[in-house]
Amino acid sequence: MSIQHEIPSYLTPHEIGPWGDYLEQIDRVTPHLGSLARWVETLKRPKRILVVDVPIERDNGAIAHFEGYRVQHNTSRGPGKGGVRFHQDVTLSEVMALSAWMTVKNAAVNVPYGGAKGGIRVDPKTLSQGELQRMTRRYTSEINIIIGPNKDIPAPDVNTNEQIMAWMMDTYSMNQGSTASGVVTGKPISLGGSLGRHEATGRGVFVVGCEAASRLGMDISDARIAVQGFGNVGGIAARLFSEAGAKVIAVQDHQATVVREAGLDIAALQAHVAAHGSVAGFRNAEELKDRSQFWGLDCDILVPAALEQQITEVNAHQIRARIILEGANGPTTPAADDILHDKGVLVVPDVIANAGGVTVSYFEWVQDFSSFFWTEDEINLRLTRIMREAFTAVWQLASEKKVSLRTAAFIVGCTRVLQAREMRGLYP
Ligand code: GLU
Repeated sequence: MSIQHEIPSYLTPHEIGPWGDYLEQIDRVTPHLGSLARWVETLKRPKRILVVDVPIERDNGAIAHFEGYRVQHNTSRGPGKGGVRFHQDVTLSEVMALSAWMTVKNAAVNVPYGGAKGGIRVDPKTLSQGELQRMTRRYTSEINIIIGPNKDIPAPDVNTNEQIMAWMMDTYSMNQGSTASGVVTGKPISLGGSLGRHEATGRGVFVVGCEAASRLGMDISDARIAVQGFGNVGGIAARLFSEAGAKVIAVQDHQATVVREAGLDIAALQAHVAAHGSVAGFRNAEELKDRSQFWGLDCDILVPAALEQQITEVNAHQIRARIILEGANGPTTPAADDILHDKGVLVVPDVIANAGGVTVSYFEWVQDFSSFFWTEDEINLRLTRIMREAFTAVWQLASEKKVSLRTAAFIVGCTRVLQAREMRGLYP
């Protein structure tokens, strides 16, 4: 990237990673913020960063230490909100960027939260269930001082799930001396979780994908879809697209890429992944030898639903899809955005496309506070309405201002955050 950003003293230049992408996105939106641009520096630095040591006793008696983070990027519009990721490549720069994207996302779909994110640098596949539980509980205890139902509410993200949320809720509650179900979302239904939360991110991706396709005159029932990531987001989005008649012609996960021109049998692929941990070895499909060929596959909609910085200036030229639907957070770098724009590819940005998860997290939190639970139909109807309205507002703004959907979504989100910032005023 040609533009130099101010690097915080706690990150070295080579560590700027996804935080650099986010800063670039903020620079691109700033000219559209009018007088609120005065406050834009607020968005370029996280409000609060907590780095914690997470020691555990391994099953063999050894002591292991992991590095954990919780970053509260902004709380102008409400408590911090965002997931917790367990991954061997987690870095502070990544968690900072993920927390900031939560701020913009929560404001873009107008749920009353700021933005936060957490993570532990660990490959959870190397831990036993007991070790995983001890690590989760110790991490929760370490970040206990800054989380809470009205302060900051964690949720699942990459490699974390309902069970991890149950342990986090229990640990926080034991420390408080009373059950606090609203401290995390994405919990099991039996502990105050919400119907529809498990599917919500994938469902939101599907709803927004249908909206984008219809704007381009594309019929979903003939669409060819390629999905990167087959977890909670990519797996569920793939299932919903195939149920709507689309052909999911390729799925790539961390181990392999499986392709079938006639469309993959998604239910069978899900069963295979449940049994073997990966799409590798799935019968009834070809396996691509070279992973990088995935990006050049002939498809209509490409759904990156894994990690950030996947579509870069190296592979953006190969892309043949008409729509990129960002199920992951930060999968497309700003340099790739420019290339895709020149090629006429429509990028539906993460802060809209994958906002279904946090939207139903908001429903879960509201249900926990009121101790009154909604039906799955009510939840899905409200989710669909919020996603469609958010997409439509961003689409209209993008056409009025002749900017990308990403810049339009950032205009909507950052304006809401900075209006709140300005109204609240600087303390003291
Ligand atoms: N981890 C999800 C995201 O990136 C959901 C966060 C939440 O529900 O708080 O949006």
